[in-house]
Amino acid sequence: MTLSRALRDDFPILGRAVNGVPLVYLDSAATAQKPRAVLDAVRSFYEEHNANAGRGLHRLAEESTEALAAARETVRRFLGAAGSDEIVFTRGTTESLNLVAEGWAKARLKAGDEIVLTEYEHHSNLLPWQRVARETGAVLRFLPAGALGALPPSPASALSNLLGPRTRLVAFAHVSNAVGTLLPAQEFCQAARARGAAVLIDAAQSAAHLPLDVRALGCDFLAFSAHKLLGPTGVGVLYARRERQAEMQPLLLGGGMVREVFLDRATLLDGPARFEAGTQPVAELTGLSAAIRYLEAVGLAAVREHERELTGRALSLLREVPDLSVYGPPDAAARGGLLAFNLRGVHPHDLAALLDQRGIAVRAGHHCAQPLHRKLGIAGSVRASFHLYTQPEEIDALAQALHDAHALVR
Ligand code: PMP
Repeated sequence: MTLSRALRDDFPILGRAVNGVPLVYLDSAATAQKPRAVLDAVRSFYEEHNANAGRGLHRLAEESTEALAAARETVRRFLGAAGSDEIVFTRGTTESLNLVAEGWAKARLKAGDEIVLTEYEHHSNLLPWQRVARETGAVLRFLPAGALGALPPSPASALSNLLGPRTRLVAFAHVSNAVGTLLPAQEFCQAARARGAAVLIDAAQSAAHLPLDVRALGCDFLAFSAHKLLGPTGVGVLYARRERQAEMQPLLLGGGMVREVFLDRATLLDGPARFEAGTQPVAELTGLSAAIRYLEAVGLAAVREHERELTGRALSLLREVPDLSVYGPPDAAARGGLLAFNLRGVHPHDLAALLDQRGIAVRAGHHCAQPLHRKLGIAGSVRASFHLYTQPEEIDALAQALHDAHALVR
């Protein structure tokens, strides 16, 4: 394996037992576990620096304001953005996507304009666009998913064929949270740009797992959540290219985002503060900053390689389990570090409960991607997802538990 097993010692929760056996945490796509560096950063912010950022003039207020600026700079570096003013803090991917839909698209789109999405989208990158379409008369078009949730043949040209003179935005999940398919982000961005459309990448399932560079990609917007990136819950990021950010309106109005306020009107600040009304979660953002530094020290390319090996191992072991269907691409290189499957005749919830008895934590259900499950002709699936701390023996334990589950139900 590419990454050292010793990394696990950095994650206190991985030492836990569940049902009397060691925890096998295969649910990192839902939320990742946190290294001690993140826990310490949050704690030390509260113990040593806590104050409201951007408000007071006393020493602690300055330290808090500096911590917020440092977090923004860390995210800028992590994403390869041109300036830290392109980094907007939100409560997570869902809020970031809603900010683009409500704050950017709604005022700009007209009846007959087109928004191109894919059939892989998480509900968070679908429902906001349904509302924009309803309220503006814009039309939603979808890149169809391929067989069993793999990519369709020639995905970039299939996407290009969907784009027309009225396409204003292309928005897609970089990695499908439901089946693990890795979408060709670079080609999709090129195709969209060639048509003059803006591009939004939902990087919820990719930002923590593979190297990203927003300038190399050429996207306009990119969203992710800290909690899937080894960081705290409740915070996330919207990268918004300067030109697009200037076209965007805030979702919330209030303190901390204003230049001048009169009883009947106000002028707003420029830059990310415009979109960040209210007291900022500086402790959590300090945690996000620590999570990014931790990931960078391990190296995103090494994380990607580690998860590719794990996924390859899982694919080959799970293929040997009778009556098990695995969704998504057959090749680990075409996937993120997760896979979804069903054991014939067993409800996904029952299978997840059986696995839980062995201490194996997986997710079961529709994974907030009902349209994709409907297309696959299934109501739900079981999903196992990996991170830099996942070990090959954990994949083996999953495969063995699935063999045993099969023997039990036959
Ligand atoms: N998009 C994708 C692809 C996701 O996997 C998720 C989380 N499951 C989201 C969006 C929403 O993220 P959050 O719940 O952190 O806002």
